Amino acid sequence: MSAAAPRTVACPTCQRPVEFSAANRHRPFCSQRCREIDLGAWASERYVIAATPSREDDLDDGPGSLATPASPR
Ligand SMILES: [Zn+2]
Repeated sequence: MSAAAPRTVACPTCQRPVEFSAANRHRPFCSQRCREIDLGAWASERYVIAATPSREDDLDDGPGSLATPASPR
């Protein structure tokens, strides 16, 4: 009898072969560390995209008020 070969996948973070089984609670990552790195990279990338329009709007408001005089008090 031969045991079924465990299915392995490449860790999305470090590309190391990971045993894709119920025993590996971090699958498809090789470890909790790689899992957090991948999630962190995704979250920070999303944060940059989400923050860009907000900062652009804030910067546009500065020069805008200089070019067009605001209503005098
Ligand atoms: Zn990894």
